[in-house]
Order: sequence, then structure tokens, then C-alpha cells
Amino acid sequence: MPLEIDSPLAELRGIGPARARALGAVGFRTVRDLLYHVPFRYEDRRCLTSIGDVGDEGSYSLTARIQDLKRVRLRRRGMSLVRGWLEDETGRLPAVWFNRPYLVQQVQDEEEYLLHGRVRRQKSHLEMVNASCEPVSQALLGGRIVAVYGSVGGLGPALLRRLLRTALDELPLESLPDDIPTSLRRRHDLPPWGEALVRVHRPEDSADVEQLNERRSPAHRRLIYGEFLELQAELGLLRSLETRDEKRHRYTGGKRAHVEVQENLPFHLTGAQQRALDEILADLESPFPMLRLLQGDVGSGKTIVAVLALIVAMRNGFQGAFMAPTELLAAQHFRTLSRLLAPSFRLSLVTGSASRPEEVRRGLADGRIQLAVGTHALIQEGVAFDRLALVVVDEQHRFGVAQRQVLQDKGHRPDLLVMTATPIPRSLALTVYGDLSLSIIDELPPGRGEVTTRVVPQDRRDNVYGWLGDRLAEGGQAYLVFPMIDDSSQISCTSVSVQGEAARKVLGRWRSEVLHGRVDSRERERIMESFGAGETRLLVATSIIEVGVDVPQATVMVIDSAERFGLAQLHQLRGRVGRGAKRSFCVALHGKLSEEAEERLAVFGATTDGFRIAEADLEIRGPGDLLGTRQAGEPLFRVANIVTDRDWLEKARIDARGLLEAGVDPPGQPFMRRVEQSARRRYERFAGG
Ligand code: ADP
Ligand code: MG
Repeated sequence: MPLEIDSPLAELRGIGPARARALGAVGFRTVRDLLYHVPFRYEDRRCLTSIGDVGDEGSYSLTARIQDLKRVRLRRRGMSLVRGWLEDETGRLPAVWFNRPYLVQQVQDEEEYLLHGRVRRQKSHLEMVNASCEPVSQALLGGRIVAVYGSVGGLGPALLRRLLRTALDELPLESLPDDIPTSLRRRHDLPPWGEALVRVHRPEDSADVEQLNERRSPAHRRLIYGEFLELQAELGLLRSLETRDEKRHRYTGGKRAHVEVQENLPFHLTGAQQRALDEILADLESPFPMLRLLQGDVGSGKTIVAVLALIVAMRNGFQGAFMAPTELLAAQHFRTLSRLLAPSFRLSLVTGSASRPEEVRRGLADGRIQLAVGTHALIQEGVAFDRLALVVVDEQHRFGVAQRQVLQDKGHRPDLLVMTATPIPRSLALTVYGDLSLSIIDELPPGRGEVTTRVVPQDRRDNVYGWLGDRLAEGGQAYLVFPMIDDSSQISCTSVSVQGEAARKVLGRWRSEVLHGRVDSRERERIMESFGAGETRLLVATSIIEVGVDVPQATVMVIDSAERFGLAQLHQLRGRVGRGAKRSFCVALHGKLSEEAEERLAVFGATTDGFRIAEADLEIRGPGDLLGTRQAGEPLFRVANIVTDRDWLEKARIDARGLLEAGVDPPGQPFMRRVEQSARRRYERFAGG
């Protein structure tokens, strides 16, 4: 059977079952996936230099004999070094290779080699380091621009190059149909798909290497644009599938209900909260189901906006559901909501360990309970509602689209409000959550104290504990967070049970408690209540407290082994303090830092602005984690990057909108039909659980 672009990888020569499994585990299933693994770098080997002309540091390609190869013993274990000389008619150049001991056996004195590598200055002389070398007689890579690949699924660059060569040779890519409308390709001056795939791996000799390395060649641009266009068209179609049928429930009571409650709030809504609420209420009154994302930095007051919307729903005779990602958070929301809503409304907690599950189930099924607050236990089978009309999902980044859909299916097209603290720019949000409309709370409530952040190495931990003691002595309350519950032998970082217990001893004068995922839920609730009431002064915890925990009088957050947390997570943790009027502090204690971790902590120390944090996070880490994945292990984009390719994102967004307006079935537009099929598959997958 001839190889096709969507053939499973196992059909490619050179890939057996083991390699297919390894690649499958990182989301590489078809030949297409492999072809979208574009080179991470291109080397210019078009021009050969004579050794006599190598006068300075830089990258060079040359042909030479390799002489006097010797292995040099190194004291460091596991390291080896080979030294020798490169020689042509014009001169000699020293060369070294690290960890390639086999060269000593392989290299033939009389053979001529094609070498490519970096030349660096060592004290008084120049030498070539870790040059690639292959006999000129069999050279495949010389005299061209050469693609260099990053490893994937445990497969190294050389093997990937071989596999890609096979794929490119066997697939008739030049005749691959490109279904992106020709008018759009022409508008942006993009090559057809098949040509782009070939050229991204095998650039023409005349190509611009710099452009290739910046991923801005026409071939790259075609792939990037294609990925953006497809996803945005698909999300647009998905949205129309999700909202095409009118909902059964209708609002008649209007806004009176929430005005009455607002009068009893201890504060006024901020302008941004009011705007978000108005947008939500307009959606509720529309005949089509709401699909809205409420985005606002930690502490911006999303909860109360959701509560006001829920009140309107309940006043109209409907049920609401409020879903949180953890039991801890569900319990906290339940306490907050009970304070605001009981006894006027009947609400219950629904978690895996909540009390009287049978009674609650019955209450939900017959409509006596008006609001269910809970975890994913809410979407379990057997939980049925009588008149579910509004579903609120808190902290969406912990929450899959699939779960959200199942909960939605518990009602008859209930309105859906998803809340997230990930403050990404609007244009990016539209890509990521393209099937949702967007409300943004871009203003913090007044009277918030400042949070001062310090990034401190762990060897000054004793000083930090001394300082922490002073804060507790003044009457403060503090969090001390560790990345793990127990010490592990694999990773050197600190834990609640070792370093945390030590801290509790040092600070033994004040009441402290320990909180992590293995503490049972009743105990957790007791601890949070005691911390909330100010009896417990120090809370030693894992990142279980990362999202949502709201104790306004806590003013100190110490994060140990901060390098083990991502930037978004650090920001969330810091968001636990600075919620009252008093000045707050965050101390990030760190061990040895990788370059990336150093960058992360520098950003963290420099700003408390969630928007800037999210942008930096995208730049340092790429969008992978933030955006979640299409399917397990599969990145949202393979070539495109929503930060660096933002200009193309914008072009694709405009074009996708145009295509959506033209409808899915204009003659000669196979693109939209294909995208529609994939949107339908996605929709059915969600809807089917
Ligand atoms: P988040 O957006 O992180 O979920 P919360 O909803 O937990 O934020 O709100 C954080 C704190 O701010 C809560 O204690 C809440 O009562 C308070 N809050 C919310 N809105 C206002 C407001 N308009 N004025 C003053 N305080 C507010
Ligand atoms: Mg919250």
C-alpha cells in the first residue's frame, strides 16, 4: 500500500512497534505528525572554507583529513574527549570532540571528510569543537542548508533525519492537494501545503538561512497560518454547534433579584465586575445558551459576580451548579456562598466525601435544592437535576472541556459560565477559548495592600524563619508552601514532612497546621476554618492551597523550592496574600537554579501584574501547558507559536471569520467541510462524555 500523509507511523520504513509506541506516547501517530516536526535549526553548509581561511570564531564547513586522533583521559567520570588535527593543502586546525570515543576507531587517516562545526578561540589558538563529520565519498549533508532536529519520544536527531528522509522520498508531496482557499494563499503569498512541507525540511539552495532559522520562510508561514486558520475555523463551528438550539428555560424575573442582594453586600462592585455581570445577564435573557469565559486576575472578585448570576437564576425558579477543581475549594465556596445565600436559598455541598449523599441527590433530582456546590462529583453518573439552568465552572485551567460538557448535558442546554485566573491577552484568549465569549475583570477591588516579593536562596532559610517569626509575633498569619508531601530520593527539593516539620518546630510558639492532598477532607475543612478564624497562625502546605483559597487577613506567603513551581503557579500562590488592606509579603526560597528557573523567578520578583506574568510565562515556556492539549499528549499547535507568530494569528483570525460567515458549503471549498467534520467529531466526543 502506498504511503499517505495520514498513514499510521508504523507503516513508515524504519519504524517498528517499539518506536511507534514511543512516538505515540508523545502524540506522534501519523506521517503528518512527523512531517510537522520541523527542524529547530538550520545549518548553512553551502560554502566550504579552506583551513587557511579560518581566521576567527564562527561556524564553518570544510573538507579535510583527520590526523593524529587520540582519546584523552578525563578525570570527570562519564566524560570522554578526543583530540586530533584537521588538515588540507592550506593548513592545520586542532579539533576536539566530547563524548564521541568511537571516532578513534572509525576515522581513516587517508580518507577525506566533510566537517561542519563551530570554531572557538582557546587561549592562543583556534579549534573546531564537536564537528559533524562524514566521508566526502558518501556525504549527504554537505554543500547544502541542513536541517537539524530536536529529539522526540526518545528518538535522536540522526534517526529522525533518516525517518524524515524516507517519508519525504516516498510521499508524493508535490501533488498533495491544499484545501486552504487559493485566494487566501495568494493574499498572503504562501506556497501550497505539499511544497511547504518539503521545503521546511529540504530548503532550496537559494533559501535565506536567517529566515529559516526565524521560522519565517514562506514554507514555515504556510504551516503556521494553516494551523491557526484551522483551529479558529473549527472553534467557530464548534461554538455554533453548541449554541444552535434554543434553550428551554426562559428568564422573566429580570434583574430585580440581584439588585436586592447587592444592597446587602459589604462592598460595591467595581466597574469591571458590573460590566461583566451585565454581559452575563444579557446572555441569560437571550434564547440561546450562554457560553462565556469570565477572566480576571487572582483576587479580582470573580466569585461574587457568579453568585449574583446564580441568584438571578434561582429567583427565576431554576437550579444552579457551582463547580470547583478541588474539594478544598468547593468547601470554601460552599462556606462563602452559604454566608451570602442561606437561608433565602437552599444549597448543598456535593463532593466525593460530603455528608448525606442520598438525600442531596434526591433534593437535586426533585428541585428542592436550588444550588449544588461541588467538585467533579457533580458530573458523576447518578447526579440528576430537576431544572438545571446555570452552570458555573471555577478555575477552568484545571478543568477539561470534556468535563464541562458533561455537566452541561445534565440540564437542557444550561447557560455556562467558566471562570479563569489565567490573564492572557484578549486575542490569545479568543484563540484558546475560541468557542467562548469573553468577559474580562481588569480591575482589582479598592483597598488592597501591596505585596512585596523577595527571591532568596535557600541557604538563608534561617533568616527567613526568623523574619517570619517576627511577622507572627506581630499577629500576622502565614502560609509556608512546599512542592511535595514527602522527600523523594529522585529529586532534591524540600517537603512538608521534612523541612515543613522542621519549620513548625522552629516556629513552635505559634499554632500551626499541616495541609496536603493526603489529609482527609473533614480534617481539611477543620484546618481551613481554624486558619480562617485566625486561631491557626501558620499553615504548612503543598500547592493544594494554590487556587482560590481566600483568607484576607493572611499576609505572608513563603514558597520553599520555588524553582519547582511554574510561573503561573507561583502567581496563584502569591495571590493568596494581599487580599486585605495590610501590606503583604511573598518570599520565594530557591535551591540551585536552571537558566529557565532563574528567568522565571526574576520575572516573579519583578512584577505582580498577572497579565505580564502570563505573557512572560508564554515566552519562557511556550503555550503548551497554558492552553492545554487537543488530545492527551498532543500540542495545540506543532509549528505555530501564539506569542512569536501573533501577526499570523491575527491574519488567520480575520480570514477564519470570513470563511465562517460564508458558511460551510460554498462550492469548491473543501477546507470548511473538512473542518466542520472535525468540529463535529470533537463535539460528539465531548457530548458523549
Ligand atoms: P477571585 O477572582 O480570585 O476568585 P474572589 O472572588 O475570591 O477573587 O475575591 C477575592 C476577595 O475580594 C474576596 O474576599 C471578596 O469578598 C473580595 N471582593 C470581591 N469583590 C469586591 C469588591 N468589589 N470590593 C471589595 N472586595 C471585594
Ligand atoms: Mg476564585
